[in-house]
Amino acid sequence: MDTIEVRTRKREDLVDLTREIGEIAAASGRREGLCLVFVPHTTAGVTINEHADPDVKADILMTLGRIVPDSLPYAHAEGNSPAHVKASLVGSSVSVIVEDGRLKLGTWQGIFLCEFDGPRTRQVRVKIV
Ligand code: ZN
Repeated sequence: MDTIEVRTRKREDLVDLTREIGEIAAASGRREGLCLVFVPHTTAGVTINEHADPDVKADILMTLGRIVPDSLPYAHAEGNSPAHVKASLVGSSVSVIVEDGRLKLGTWQGIFLCEFDGPRTRQVRVKIV
């Protein structure tokens, strides 16, 4: 297993890790397999979406903000319930097929760490099986 450490810089952000994860897949020596990406946090997640136009990530964050308002009467005393809910909505893992030692992503797809309660240092675990 490899771990990518990411220092996020905003309260909410989608951090493109496609290149780093692709390098781990290439260095694994596996020609074919599955790349599992797992985020071991409760207020961050991981998703695959377009990484060509940065407006897409802005729209995703805006829409999640509308779906999960800051103003609901949350019970969790830490005060970061919206971040917990958003993390559950996007999920904590994705998997990508590896073929010829490369991630078989779609043309416009990238893999993003989703920060919902930053800035913090986050870990992203990557396993090629
Ligand atoms: Zn909390």
